[in-house]
Amino acid sequence: MNLPNCPKCNSEYTYEDGTMLVCPECGHEWLANQETETDEDSNVIKDANGNVLSDGDTITVIKDLKVKGSSSVLKQGTKVKNIRLVDGDHDIDCKIDGFGPMKLKSEFVKKI
Ligand SMILES: [Zn+2]
Repeated sequence: MNLPNCPKCNSEYTYEDGTMLVCPECGHEWLANQETETDEDSNVIKDANGNVLSDGDTITVIKDLKVKGSSSVLKQGTKVKNIRLVDGDHDIDCKIDGFGPMKLKSEFVKKI
């Protein structure tokens, strides 16, 4: 066992008590394996297959999508290069040949 020294008095006689570490010299108790909270996962955007997307990825559209404000349809299989992830309902910002700047939903795309 290699327990850390007491963070308060630096005593090396610390012992484990359940999930806590205890220092017999100054009475300090603290949590062993203190986990630092990371919310790294909360901003992950995934494609239809659950693959994590990142800026600069190339994706294809997996279903025909109506383009907002126009009568054109973005065809299934359309390849989109160099996507940019953004916050919001439509979480992919991109530029598509023949369409211009577009916003897509990650659930309707697939990473190549
Ligand atoms: Zn101590």
